[in-house]
Amino acid sequence: MPIPKPTVEELLRASADHECHDPDGVCVRIAAVAELPTRLGDFQVVAFHSPSDGKEHAALVKGDVVRQENVPVRLHSECLTGDVFGSLRCDCREQLETSIRWVERNGLGVILYLRQEGRGIGFENKIKAYQLQEQGLDTIQANEALGFRADERDYAVAAHMLASLEIRSIRLMSNNPSKIDNLRSHGVIVTDRIPVVVAPNPHNRRYLETKRLRSGHILPSTRWDGSHEQIDSVSPASSESPSESRTA
Ligand SMILES: [Zn+2]
Ligand SMILES: [Zn+2]
Repeated sequence: MPIPKPTVEELLRASADHECHDPDGVCVRIAAVAELPTRLGDFQVVAFHSPSDGKEHAALVKGDVVRQENVPVRLHSECLTGDVFGSLRCDCREQLETSIRWVERNGLGVILYLRQEGRGIGFENKIKAYQLQEQGLDTIQANEALGFRADERDYAVAAHMLASLEIRSIRLMSNNPSKIDNLRSHGVIVTDRIPVVVAPNPHNRRYLETKRLRSGHILPSTRWDGSHEQIDSVSPASSESPSESRTA
């Protein structure tokens, strides 16, 4: 008889006192779990608490992910302007919704929602960076002008969240191959990458082009005509790609 896998609720009880004893490292523990019916499907929502810095991260969970292999996982960094206000300056909300819809259809997967606005620079600095972009800088130049670089911290948090959920290996939903290396450096087993395709709009064209050309993201050129050809992918089945249909 195989030993039954624990549920997230059982992990919550088992890890109530969890705390990593690395003073410089990140630590999170499962703080609460509840059912979450949404506009896009029915999920469990998991609240993570970080004993080291008090931050609260979240996971949206579909299906029995605990001790599972090859779980589709999306890392999403909080974006107040995009996720909540529907900003067209970035593609965060579309990426998030496309990923949630795909996880719902797939019946298994996790969205890690990392509370690190503007890739860790904070809301105030993100808006300052927008001001600089209005003066002609691109998104990377603007962040550098404010003294920031790409933050590695979110990968350590994400890796710990996956370990807390006892997920054995993941298929990363991302267009950014460097995320895979980064997660692997934190001990996550990544078996595959699932591209997330969303259509550009006139406001985020330059932002997406910068991500493609300067950050190594695998995205179609923004001169792309909107047809959903399969982009470069290690995912074997193109029909599995979570792409946003604009033809409906
Ligand atoms: Zn820990
Ligand atoms: Zn955004």
